[in-house]
Amino acid sequence: MLLRSFWHTRKGQFMILILQADLGEQSPIFQQLLTHLRGFSGIHFRVHQEQGAEQVLSEIYLIGDTKQLRIEDMEALPGVEHAIRVSREYRMLGRHGDDQRSNGFEYNGVRFSQDNLHVFAGLCAVDTHEHVEQMLRALQENGQVCTRMGAYKPRTSPYAFQGHGKSCLPWVFDLAGKYGIRVIAMEILHESHMDEIREALEKTGHPTGVMLQIGTRNTQNFELLKAVGRQQTLPVLLKRGFGITLEESLNAAEYLASEGNTKVVFGLRGMKSNLGDPHRNFVDFAQVPAVKRLTRMPVCIDPSHSVGSRDVGPDGIMDVFHVTAQGVVAGANMILVDFHPDPATALVDGPQALLLKELPWFLEDVRLAREVYEERRVLAAAQSLI
Ligand code: PEP
Ligand code: MN
Repeated sequence: MLLRSFWHTRKGQFMILILQADLGEQSPIFQQLLTHLRGFSGIHFRVHQEQGAEQVLSEIYLIGDTKQLRIEDMEALPGVEHAIRVSREYRMLGRHGDDQRSNGFEYNGVRFSQDNLHVFAGLCAVDTHEHVEQMLRALQENGQVCTRMGAYKPRTSPYAFQGHGKSCLPWVFDLAGKYGIRVIAMEILHESHMDEIREALEKTGHPTGVMLQIGTRNTQNFELLKAVGRQQTLPVLLKRGFGITLEESLNAAEYLASEGNTKVVFGLRGMKSNLGDPHRNFVDFAQVPAVKRLTRMPVCIDPSHSVGSRDVGPDGIMDVFHVTAQGVVAGANMILVDFHPDPATALVDGPQALLLKELPWFLEDVRLAREVYEERRVLAAAQSLI
């Protein structure tokens, strides 16, 4: 609670001190630094620590009258490697000035960052044991370690299938472990779902990992964001709100970080507007580079919920494939895409699902697009040398 009042009630400028790696909070240098900071009048601070793959990373957030502090002086303090003056929104997830801090995080052996790419192909909604197993087997055969599986579904109609919920979690997690899946993106609609997921992971012995997904209908469910942000074990995929500005959605992501969880992936999934017709939503993947510039979050694209159909162009390529390639060529870091072994019997979103036999094709198309993106980066880097 102390943390919350610190964060949400105090106004003022803001500065981040990035400390030397592996500086334990109990070390004399750390303690000396804290004593020094306590001496500043009108400035409050909060320590944020994160266990990285190899080392503990510590940052200290200073808030209040930080204008009086000089960057050079702060960088000269014991244990401080770098100081950054934060001038605008997205304090924790944003990029500030010449902010060279590394981005991304590692979860259950998988690294997520603005520099790599993971495909999360899977079922929009968990239905039968057989379909889940067929899906996961296909993923393993194609070298995939991530998937999407919906257990809790936000539906327009209260009479539509709401997902199997808690009851399917144990067998879905066991099957995921059996097929080498390390991360499942799974939407939650309420904080109790997060507890159910953590409990089921515990009971099954953590055969897999879960990335909590907050859907577009809940982007601004601030109490849900705060609850999810208060735990740091499970990373979060936050979908942009389909009817609000990008800035509003990025601020929603900041809610997660401000409560302590900075393991956040930001998902683009199209905007609700008939200007996007004939697609289900107006595809917004042109904003991939914008989100990467404004923040340090890895960026996900969801071509299935953006396009919403299996429509094919005269070139023989489905719109879902086209928009995926557009997002990947622009540097997307994660793809959430609906597949189903038998779309005709799918309980949710069958019409937009790709078939299991299309998985190798999809992955190859993604590989080609990613190769183009990497070549574009080399080309851009060469320009700066000229
Ligand atoms: C989903 O990914 O299953 C979903 C419901 O997405 P969105 O929140 O983007 O509509
Ligand atoms: Mn869906």
